Amino acid sequence: MPDLWLPGAERHPLSDTAPTDTQYAPRVIWHITWDKNGTAAKPADLVPFDQLVRYFTGAGSGMAPHLLWDPFTGRTAQFYPATSRSKSVVDSAGGTRTNRTGRVCLQVETLFFPYCRVNGRSYATVRNTPAKGLDKILAWARSWGVPDTWPMGSPTWSANRSERTWETRGGHYGHSQVPENQHTDPGPMPKWSGTTAYVPPPFPAGLTPGKSNPSAKPLQKALRAAGFLNITDADLSDAYGPRTQTAVGRFFDAHPQFRDQGKPHDVAIGPHGWTYLFTLAYGHK
Ligand SMILES: [Zn+2]
Repeated sequence: MPDLWLPGAERHPLSDTAPTDTQYAPRVIWHITWDKNGTAAKPADLVPFDQLVRYFTGAGSGMAPHLLWDPFTGRTAQFYPATSRSKSVVDSAGGTRTNRTGRVCLQVETLFFPYCRVNGRSYATVRNTPAKGLDKILAWARSWGVPDTWPMGSPTWSANRSERTWETRGGHYGHSQVPENQHTDPGPMPKWSGTTAYVPPPFPAGLTPGKSNPSAKPLQKALRAAGFLNITDADLSDAYGPRTQTAVGRFFDAHPQFRDQGKPHDVAIGPHGWTYLFTLAYGHK
């Protein structure tokens, strides 16, 4: 299993953990703490990190995320393990359970508000910050199978929500893109490689080792593109045969979180592994 706690994060575990709805694809929800309202003419000093830690472990524990992240220093604090839901979005009765959607539903509160002032300089959006430590958070999310993509597009300040996209696609979402919610954060985020929204093909029905399936060929191509299968175009076929199975086994060795944990010799790729493999193969520049 990947790390339940982001390596290097200060741990402040809250006791009221609860499971997520793991039949949905894994995801991250991004926020800003929006503690104050600065303006271009009148920036305000950023709020101290420890003040937010006290808030999320005290009066604000009912809204605690998984992570608090300071994009200026890279400092992180974590309140829930990866496999628990956290509590930073609204979840209305009925409909999607917004805090729980996904194999993981990791929520990150970025210590930020528009026109915050840090070391004498003011910052309009998270995109303008040094985004220190973002690479570590993305790597951790990837280890849980979250592709580097924004299924609803890279966030802007305006809200844009689709319950259908939310329920069918893993990846990164802004609070502004979560159903049942009103908030418009986080605003423009730093660009990362998947921002151009590579969309993996849907997991095909009936894809089973030893059986012929038209999706075996794209699977072989993705395994080849990701470095797990050495095969010529002439050898691509609809057969999910021994070579393809061995290559899937290699992919599982490199990313064991996608292997059926009860089966050490598992060679059957499932929906999460499929999505991750295709993103690995084609989702990065
Ligand atoms: Zn938010």
